[in-house]
Order: sequence, then structure tokens, then C-alpha cells
Amino acid sequence: MRGCRTRTLPFFLILIISMTAAELPAAPIADYRPALVPFIGEGGKVLAATRRFLRGAEARFLVLDPERFAFREMDSQAVLAAPPAPDGAWRETPFARALARHTSPPFPLQNNGLREAERPVPGFFLTADLCPSGRPLDRVLFAELAALPLKKPLPVALALSGRWVRQHPEDFAWLKGQAAAETIAVTWVNHSLTHPYDPAAPAERNFLLGPGIDFQAEVLGLERLLVEEGLLPSPFFRFPGLVSNQRLVEELASLNLVPVGSNAWLAKGERPRPGSIILVHANGNEPEGIRLLREFFTRQRETFRQRDAVLLPLREAFGQP
Ligand SMILES: [Zn+2]
Repeated sequence: MRGCRTRTLPFFLILIISMTAAELPAAPIADYRPALVPFIGEGGKVLAATRRFLRGAEARFLVLDPERFAFREMDSQAVLAAPPAPDGAWRETPFARALARHTSPPFPLQNNGLREAERPVPGFFLTADLCPSGRPLDRVLFAELAALPLKKPLPVALALSGRWVRQHPEDFAWLKGQAAAETIAVTWVNHSLTHPYDPAAPAERNFLLGPGIDFQAEVLGLERLLVEEGLLPSPFFRFPGLVSNQRLVEELASLNLVPVGSNAWLAKGERPRPGSIILVHANGNEPEGIRLLREFFTRQRETFRQRDAVLLPLREAFGQP
């Protein structure tokens, strides 16, 4: 009898588990924390777990691929059972080197971090910020993207704030739907949980430099929201207002996130050139930026059609050895 059960149960067990997994709501995320566990993954590649958390009762890690600048979620047992990376191996990876380059002095108050591609690239990087806003998502931007003579999904980096998600659950669901339908390929950039802003305060005491801000909670809170929504964060952060100082940048480095600025904030009159990180706001607060983006797309239409230039995912902006 016992032997019979061991032969027959696994099949039914698998069936039951797969049915239950499909029907149950996603398990809640808890205990979301930074980590740094470099290890040797498949093919001898150096990887590192940089976040740990509980998904229901299961211990999980977010594991960063330092060549693709992308996360995957892994069971903690698989990470902890892997051979540890040799001393210093993580620091020599393309990601760790890029992080060091973009978080070292000087520490300008405005626009610190990656502002354009580090190597010649045949295209542009589109970033759109979703700061808190009373207005709905500017869907015109996505209609413009979908109309481009370029192969889908179209890469776009969306700098997401948690407060915007809470204000616009339907727009957020629509964006997730666009990504799931592979109209767009979204790099979800962390733009902080609450995106504090005081219109009366000077930059040095505004945004995440305001009084009483818990920077780590702002960073990890937004990531946790993404993970709860079934999305993978990216290892990129855009400072609200593009405002930061040495303390914030060093804290960001310790959390293994690269700051991303822009050299082509369209509404400020900056014009894109190849390799530019273009900045617009998709939160309805900057129609002038969207208008200028439409003009830019119109000017580029023929180069896009000929594939002389394309839109590129943010990870391809990094390229120094
Ligand atoms: Zn913002």
C-alpha cells in the first residue's frame, strides 16, 4: 500500500499543486530587504542576490545578472546551495563597474548618474516619469510609440512612483497590459515610493533631501510594490526632481542601484542626439514634453524606418569595460 502511494501520489500532487497555484491569489510579500550574495550560476557566470524576501512562507532572492543588468527571482535554497563567487569577482563585473562609475564624485545636486550612453549606439533611450499627479496617464505617448515604424515590443523605461500607482490603479493595470501584450517592453525604474515634493522648498531641501525622509524605505518600498504586482524591478533609480547629494548617492550604491539622469529633458529645451537618455513625463503634467517627443518622432521617422536608429533598452546604454 505504501509503495503504491509513493508511485501514484506525485502525479496527483503535481496536478493539485498546479491547479491551486493558478487559482490562488499571489502570496503576500514580506520582510523585503537588501542582501549581497555573489555566487556562481549556470555556465560558471558570476551572479549576485541583492534582495531577499518572503513570498508567503517561501524565502526568495532577487538575483542580478551583471552582464544583462536584469533581475530574476530565485528560490533561496538554489542560491545558497550554489558555489560562492571568489573574492572580488563581483566587483569586476560590468554592473558593479558601472555602479562604481555612476556613484563616485563629484556629486552634483542636479542630474547625477547616467545621462547618455557610455558608448556609441545607433539609437535613443526613452524614459518617461510617473511622478504623483492628479491627471490621468498620458496615453498619447503610448499611441505615438505604437505608431512608430519599429519592431515591437518598443523599449521604454518607466520611472514609477508608488504614489502614482495608488492614484491611478486603472492606468497602471493598462500599462501592465500593454507590456503583457508586448506592445512595449518596460524597464521599471524606481522613482521612489512617495516622491516627496515641496513647491516652496529649495532643491537642497526638497524631494528625497526633504526633512524626515527615510531613503531606504522609499527605495525598497517601491521595489516591493513591483514584486507584489508580479513585475521585476530593474537595477536603476531615478531621483525625484533629478535631485540628490553625496549621502543619497552613496546609499543608493550600497543598495546596488544605478542612478539614471538625462541629457535630453525635452520640455526643458534639451534636444536628443544619438545615445541620449530622453526624459518626458507620462503623468499628464507635461504636455509640452509629449508634443516635443511627437515632433522628434516625426523627424526621426525615416531613420527609424530604415533602421538607421532605433529605441533601445536602458541596459544597452552601459558599455565601458
Ligand atoms: Zn518625478
